[in-house]
Amino acid sequence: MTHIWLKVYLGIGSNLGNRRRNVEKSLNLLKAEKEIRIKKQSSLYETKPVGGPKQRAFKNGVVLIETTLSVKSLLNVLKNIENKLGRKKDAKRWGPRIIDLDILAYDRVVFKSKLLTVPHPMMHERFFVLAPFAEIAPRFKHPLLNKTVKKLLSELESK
Ligand code: ATP
Ligand code: CA
Ligand code: CA
Repeated sequence: MTHIWLKVYLGIGSNLGNRRRNVEKSLNLLKAEKEIRIKKQSSLYETKPVGGPKQRAFKNGVVLIETTLSVKSLLNVLKNIENKLGRKKDAKRWGPRIIDLDILAYDRVVFKSKLLTVPHPMMHERFFVLAPFAEIAPRFKHPLLNKTVKKLLSELESK
């Protein structure tokens, strides 16, 4: 069987416990997956939380991985890692969390179901996504908006 390694961008965030350490742990668990390789890693951005209850600031970053996993299998791997690190399943949306792993873009695939939307529907509206994303892949083109990450970031900054 041929394995096709697709380029996928993941958003990582943490605002509970040792945030930097939680991000590192999640990267180590990603590395331990046979079907995932980490290719690039942004620096971490300190981000004030938007929406949800009052809570501590986040550390946010973006990583480029290559994977042979389908987008659904990848989402399951990410959820398993979140659970392994102790994320509570019933935690509120946009509430504090030990770790949050989102699929920002899965190659140039456009897909929407109840459980999964790619590219991530909010990525172009979030500075904490676009800033680290632009650090590692300024020329990646948003598959729906057809603009580069660099362009989306500068548009967001001039709003
Ligand atoms: P946001 O998606 O606005 O960043 P969140 O990360 O806080 O919010 P979660 O509670 O972590 O939201 O996830 C809720 C559900 O979103 C997940 O269980 C997952 O099924 C779904 N989901 C849809 N699209 C994606 C995606 N691209 N990446 C990760 N999860 C997704
Ligand atoms: Ca998220
Ligand atoms: Ca999430």
